[in-house]
Amino acid sequence: MKIIQKIISLAGETNVKLNEPMAKHTTFKIGGAADIFVTPETKEDLIGIIEFCKEENIPVTVVGNGSNLLVSDDGIDGVVICTEKINYVNLEKDIITSGAGAFLAVVANTAAKAELAGLEFAAGIPGTVGGGAFMNAGAYGGELKDVIETVTALDKDGNVKVFDNADCRFGYRTSIFGEGYVILEINFRLKKGNKEKILDTMKDLSQKRRDKQPLEYPSAGSTFKRPEGHFAGKLVEDAGLKGYSIGGAQVSEKHSGFVINKGAATAKDVLDLVGYIKIQVKEKFDVELQEEIKFIGR
Ligand SMILES: Cc1cc2nc3c(=O)[nH]c(=O)nc-3n(C[C@H](O)[C@H](O)[C@H](O)COP(=O)(O)OP(=O)(O)OC[C@H]3O[C@@H](n4cnc5c(N)ncnc54)[C@H](O)[C@@H]3O)c2cc1C
Repeated sequence: MKIIQKIISLAGETNVKLNEPMAKHTTFKIGGAADIFVTPETKEDLIGIIEFCKEENIPVTVVGNGSNLLVSDDGIDGVVICTEKINYVNLEKDIITSGAGAFLAVVANTAAKAELAGLEFAAGIPGTVGGGAFMNAGAYGGELKDVIETVTALDKDGNVKVFDNADCRFGYRTSIFGEGYVILEINFRLKKGNKEKILDTMKDLSQKRRDKQPLEYPSAGSTFKRPEGHFAGKLVEDAGLKGYSIGGAQVSEKHSGFVINKGAATAKDVLDLVGYIKIQVKEKFDVELQEEIKFIGR
C-alpha cells in the first residue's frame, strides 16, 4: 500500500491504475494485467518513478503505444510506465524536439506542415518516437536513424545522457537503448522540402499500407525481421502457412508477414503459432526467422 501511495504522489492519482489489462494498451489487444500501470505527464515525474522503483527493487517496464509488443497472458510484474502523456512536439527551424511519447504520425505531420521533409516514411508507423528510436523503426527505404539528431535517455544509474546519432548504435530494428536506457526526448533534424510533395508521399505510402497490410485486424506489425536475402512474408506464404491459425491467432490472408488477432487470441496462441511458423520455415528453406515483435511479461 505504501508503494502505491508513493507512486500516486509522484505521478498523480489519475495517472496510476492497478491491475490494468495490457490488452487495452497494445495494438495486438492481447495481454494480462500490469500490477501498476502509470502514465506520467512529465519527464521529471517519469524519472522520479524510476528512481523510487529502483530504491524499492520494483521491476519497471517502459512502453510507448504497445505496437511492437506481445504481452504475456499472465501480465507484467511491478510497474509499467507508459509514455503516452509525455507527447510534446516543438519546432524550431529545421529541428523538431518531441517527448518520448509523441506519436510518429504527429511528428511527421508537424514536419509536413512546416515544409520539412524526411519523416514521410514514418507517418504510418503506429508507434511513439521513443518506441521508434528504441526499435530504429523503418519503412519504405527510411529509418529513424536517418533523421534523429540526438536522443536524451536515462541510464541504469539514473543519469540523464544525450546521445548523438552515432552513439545510438542504430542497426536493423535495434539500437543501444535496448541496453537498459529509458528514452525521454528526441531531436529530429529534417530538410527543407515542398509541402505538397511531402503530403503526397505520405498519402501514397499510407495507401500502400492499406492495400498490403491487414490493418483491419489487431496485430503488432511485421512478426519477423527480414532475413538476409529473403522476405519473411514470402517464406511464410511459400511454406503454405497463409491463413494458418492456432486458437485466435492467424497468419494474415492479406500479408503472411503479419500474425493477426482474429478476435480472442491469447499470447499463448500467438507464441505457439510463431513457434510453428519458425519450425516450418526452417525445415522447408533452412532459414531461421527471428521475431521483430517483443514478448514481455510473466
Ligand atoms: C499495423 C502496424 C504496422 C507497423 N509498421 C511498422 C513499420 O512499417 N516499420 C516498423 O519499424 N515498425 C512497424 N510496426 C511496429 C511498431 O509500430 C514499431 O516498432 C514502433 O516503433 C513501436 O513503437 P511503440 O511506441 O508502439 O513501442 P512499444 O511497442 O510500446 O515498445 C517497443 C519496444 O520499445 C521499448 N520502448 C518504448 N518506449 C520506450 C522508451 N521511451 N524508452 C525505452 N524503451 C522504450 C519497449 O520497452 C519495447 O521493448 C508496425 C506495427 C503495427 C501494429
